[in-house]
Amino acid sequence: MTHDEIKQQLIWAGKVLVAEGQDDFTRGHISFRLPDDPALFFMKPHSLGLDEITPENILTIDLEGNVVAGTSRRHSEVYIHSEIYKQRPDVTCVLHTHAPYAVALSATGRPMRAYSQPGALFYEGIGVYTDTINLIRTTTMGAGVAKALGPHRAVLLKNHGVVTVGASVAEAVIGVIMLENAAMVQLTTEAAGDPAPEFPRADIEKLKTDISRPEQFAINFDYLVRRTKRREQAG
Ligand SMILES: [Zn+2]
Repeated sequence: MTHDEIKQQLIWAGKVLVAEGQDDFTRGHISFRLPDDPALFFMKPHSLGLDEITPENILTIDLEGNVVAGTSRRHSEVYIHSEIYKQRPDVTCVLHTHAPYAVALSATGRPMRAYSQPGALFYEGIGVYTDTINLIRTTTMGAGVAKALGPHRAVLLKNHGVVTVGASVAEAVIGVIMLENAAMVQLTTEAAGDPAPEFPRADIEKLKTDISRPEQFAINFDYLVRRTKRREQAG
């Protein structure tokens, strides 16, 4: 992907995330590691909504969190991104939002269950960061989030939000939407009370494998981009 293509992906990702209710005022941010220079990444600027990213306001940032190009204000939580990129060479995209059902699930302290197909995506595969409710404003705190993430595709930040990662924008964006859906179904199920047992491990793991394929994320992200474009055209 060229730098222009990456920026376009970030712009559409932001619009899709807002359309999916992942916005919290101007909070939340997304970044993408540059394929031709893995020690740098593009990132959404501070003070603007996820749906207000433009090619001009995207920042270029290094793995210490320093802005190396761009004039926008940098998110203080940049260290979530830089520390994950340091620890996870396989990760190309990092996304942080304050998805409300995921926050609520994190506040219960209960583990994520496979009560739905999206829940199966995170079956025994989600970290939990419990050091603080506060913003992740230092390299030490960012390293704590990266440690809690471990090898997984998502980490709940207790009473704060969620971070999803992927080898593509599609994996991070569809991941956070599926995580929010899974958390909503789980909280509804638990609120109804007396959940029936989950399916056997082998059954859940088969589904997890099937829905973890990169193509699955790309197909669904592309659909949400097309839908967002149609809605823009309709005014
Ligand atoms: Zn946050």
